[in-house]
Amino acid sequence: MALNSMREIFDQMREQHLAFWEVVLAYDMDERQVSPEGSKAKMLLTWQAMRDAADAYTGQRSSLSGLVGGDGMKMRQYNLRGESMLGGYVSAVIAEALSMAESNACMRRIVAAPTAGACGVLPAVLLPLDLTQHQILQALYTASGIGAVIASRASIAGAEGGCQAEIGTASAMAAGALVAIRGGSGEQIGHAVAMALKNLMGLVCDPVAGLVEVPCVKRNVIGAVNAVSAADMAMAGIQSRIPVDEVIEAMGQVGRRMPVEFRETALGGLANTPTGRAVKERMQAARKR
Ligand code: SF4
Repeated sequence: MALNSMREIFDQMREQHLAFWEVVLAYDMDERQVSPEGSKAKMLLTWQAMRDAADAYTGQRSSLSGLVGGDGMKMRQYNLRGESMLGGYVSAVIAEALSMAESNACMRRIVAAPTAGACGVLPAVLLPLDLTQHQILQALYTASGIGAVIASRASIAGAEGGCQAEIGTASAMAAGALVAIRGGSGEQIGHAVAMALKNLMGLVCDPVAGLVEVPCVKRNVIGAVNAVSAADMAMAGIQSRIPVDEVIEAMGQVGRRMPVEFRETALGGLANTPTGRAVKERMQAARKR
C-alpha cells in the first residue's frame, strides 16, 4: 500500500471498513514495521512536541533580522481585551499561528508540518481545541496522510512549488484534520483538502532576504484560517467541483511552471520590493562586520 492518491485512501476505507486516519495508521505500521501502539506512541510524541513548542515561546524574542517577533503576543492581548472582530476560536487560531511561526523564525524547536516555514498552521487549528487523545490521533494521522499524498503527487516545498505547496499543503492538512475530528466522512475530508488547496493556488514563495520570516509568519495565519473555512464548508455539505486528486495535480503543475524568482530564491515578489532589497542589504552588511 502507498499513499499516492486520496482516491486510494478512499478505496481502502471502503474495502477495509476503516476511517481515513486508520488507513494512514495501517500505512505507517506497514512502512515502519511497528505495532499500532508503537505508531500511536510516536504520533503522540509529535503532539507533545507541538504543545511544548507552543508553551516554550513567550513572544518576547525577535528574529535574527529583527523583522519578526511579538505579534503572536499582541494578538493574544487584543483577543483578551475582547476587541477581535472574529472572536472565540478563530481569534485564538490566529494568535497560535503567529506565535508558532514566530517561534520558528526565532530558531526555537518546532514541528515541521509539513515544513518548518508552515509549522504554525496545523497546531494553530488544533491547540485551541480541548481534544481527547483519540481526536488528537485522528487529526494527526489524517493530516499526515494528506501531506504524504500531496508530497507524492505534487510538492510540499516552497523551493519546488512556491508557497502554495508549503502553506497550501499545511492548510489542506489542517482542513482535513478538522473534518476528521468533527466526524466528517472521507469524502468531506477530500472536499476540505481540495477547497483549502484551491484557495491558495498560485501563491508564490518570496521570503525577504531569504529568511523564513516575511511573509512566512503571517502566511501561517491565512493558511490556518483558510483551513477552518474549508473544513466548515465541507462539514456544511459544500463540495469542491474539481475532485481532490485533480486539484493536487493542478497545484503541482502550477508549481512546476512557476518562474524561479517565485520559488524560494528571494529574487521576486516581496523579496524584490525596495524594502525587501534594503533588508537583504542590511543583513549582508551585518554578516560582513
Ligand atoms: S514564502 Fe516560502 S519560505 Fe515562506 S512560508 Fe511560504 S513557502 Fe515557506
